[in-house]
Amino acid sequence: MRLWIKDPHAILAEGAERGRVIEGTRVVELVGRGGSPSAPVGATFDAAGHVVLPGLINTHHHFYQTLTRAHPRAINQDLLPWLAALAPIWARMKPAQLRIAMRLALTELMLSGCTTAADHHYVFSPGLENAIDIEVEEARRLGMRMTVTRGSMSLSQKDGGLPPDDIVQDEETILADSERVLKLFHDPRPGADIRIAIAPCSPFSVSRRLMAESAALAERHDCQLHTHLCQTLEEEQFCIQTYGMRPVDLIEEAGWMSPRAWVAHGIHFNAQEIGRLGRAGVGICHCPAADMVLALGICPTKELEAAGAPVGLGVDGSASNDSSNIMEAVRHALMIGRLRYGASAVTHLDVLRWATEGSARCLGRGDIGRIAVGLEADLAMFTLAEPRFSGAHDPIAALVLCGAHRADRVMVAGQWRVIDGAPVGVDLSGLLAEHRAAAQAFA
Ligand SMILES: [Zn+2]
Repeated sequence: MRLWIKDPHAILAEGAERGRVIEGTRVVELVGRGGSPSAPVGATFDAAGHVVLPGLINTHHHFYQTLTRAHPRAINQDLLPWLAALAPIWARMKPAQLRIAMRLALTELMLSGCTTAADHHYVFSPGLENAIDIEVEEARRLGMRMTVTRGSMSLSQKDGGLPPDDIVQDEETILADSERVLKLFHDPRPGADIRIAIAPCSPFSVSRRLMAESAALAERHDCQLHTHLCQTLEEEQFCIQTYGMRPVDLIEEAGWMSPRAWVAHGIHFNAQEIGRLGRAGVGICHCPAADMVLALGICPTKELEAAGAPVGLGVDGSASNDSSNIMEAVRHALMIGRLRYGASAVTHLDVLRWATEGSARCLGRGDIGRIAVGLEADLAMFTLAEPRFSGAHDPIAALVLCGAHRADRVMVAGQWRVIDGAPVGVDLSGLLAEHRAAAQAFA
């Protein structure tokens, strides 16, 4: 059936002033000013009260951390003591708790206008061996498109790494399970609901061999590669002391310098490294909230984009953000970007581009991230009915500048997943009660 989403109050797309027509999972027609659909439609949705964006894409998160937000042992600390305080708590997580953490994170993201999310899951402590299987089930249950990353940690404290000994796995187990989940779930075709990416946690927590084996695996299975990179100066010092090279050299040696890779944070690059990353097409996920909360620094977004690197946005983990709101990340990116580059240098359209097209490029996808004919029908629709928007003039700028937080309607692959600000098929108060109860175990 053809559905016409008609006469939006505003839409972030060229030539779609009278809306767009959706058939199946895709946009099949844009309707320009003064026009009407070229063929009869089976249904019409009146969007006169809605500002319409392409579905927002979150390219870095740690869903399991929703159970340890604002944790008294970790708040008000720098990254390394923050991590040292939380890692032993996360090591206690059980499958049922992980499932409810993921369900909450997915729901929270979707309510903020997110239609595709990448989650970096690297905790496979005893009992959590099927974490990726749980995550795929939960994404499908809610209808979120995902790149589920099979994370890994193999280098623990006894080997000079950062994580505690009981939450790492040996490299053969990691590689075998990565191959298992790739075969089970990875769909490289356009329109895929689930893709798998391979994601060693960081240079602090895996060996050089695992970095290189991960790249080889990604090449064999045609999937993306992900890691935390250049997040702190401690990481740079660790790489120089341990391997005699800087983090970007480390990933280059491992075969990561290609559009297959996107890295989270990307703060401490020098100018020469920015040029190399741009020429290689390595994507950078800018995580403004976590970078500010943990005082990590400011990602050189403008230089990276100018060099040719895709720049996307991520909310990052719910213990460092401590929220999972992708529209909030858009606003944060605008503010921190202006602090670095000046008020006219980072516009609302720049940060919306990062959260849509830029994020899609990070994930290696050309089928999402824009409202255009032939692309997937993933949409985030907001109303301006709240006090925060009253008196606003430019509707699209208002979403960013006045701080939109909650989408009124969200569509993924042509299906409504949020209607009137509520997730379809989810008992939200029941979910919150269950999640709060699960979090009690980590107090
Ligand atoms: Zn992270």
